[in-house]
Amino acid sequence: MRITFCGTGAGGSVNPRRGAASIHLAHGDARLLVDTGPGFMERMVDSGLDADSVSDVVLSHLHFDHAMGVIELFTRLIVRRGAPVTVFGPRDTDTYIEAALGFARVNATSDFINRWLDGVSVELTRPGDEREICGIDVRSVEVPHAPYLECLARRFEAGGRSLVYTGDTTYAPEALVPLADGADVLVHEAYTESCLARMAEGLSESGRAGLYRGVQGTHSTAESAGRIARDAGASTLVLTHILSLERDWELVEEARRAFDGTIVVAADGLSLEV
Ligand SMILES: [Zn+2]
Repeated sequence: MRITFCGTGAGGSVNPRRGAASIHLAHGDARLLVDTGPGFMERMVDSGLDADSVSDVVLSHLHFDHAMGVIELFTRLIVRRGAPVTVFGPRDTDTYIEAALGFARVNATSDFINRWLDGVSVELTRPGDEREICGIDVRSVEVPHAPYLECLARRFEAGGRSLVYTGDTTYAPEALVPLADGADVLVHEAYTESCLARMAEGLSESGRAGLYRGVQGTHSTAESAGRIARDAGASTLVLTHILSLERDWELVEEARRAFDGTIVVAADGLSLEV
């Protein structure tokens, strides 16, 4: 399997160096998009990937920075004459995709374009789901993130190799350690407390409280990501979903407190053979 990061930033954190969350996963003829943050398609093309080759989409959850770019894909479907695409996602993905197709249909200038858009289907992958998608075995578990949204971490296995992607999550060893057991690559979201301190500078007391509550209550520190990688026995830890004021060396330093394997800070365009 080859993964290419088409977006490694965090939602609500405007960053010209990092787009919103999206990973391109290639294996054999399969071309999966794992999350489709807005702008993923430009970064995909920048990375030399064929925007028309996407076979299917797997969404971790429906926050805008992970899912909203799916509309770009549907608009692209109009151009590429409608090869069918299935979107696999958590609870409410059917409602979300119906709305996204509504946007795309505004661009549909003829009945046959509408029929191409009819080629988009949705399959809900609930917690505990195990299935094959385009020759890749995919296992899904729920992770704690936002209380009103289901967020699913995924394990992808093919050709004896394994990749785990957490999506967005707080520290969740009970879900993630078994999922990432012996994984070749664990892609874990991460932030550092020092970055939060930088972001809090100049904010009012209530602004600071909101920032800390918002990030600490829904995301994982790099050290927590390191603990998951260590306890699961993963070989390589890739940190992603990076806030704009993060410093790569601080992310690595924090994760290193717990994990002595290979640590990589993801970057847009980074491509790794798993
Ligand atoms: Zn999220």
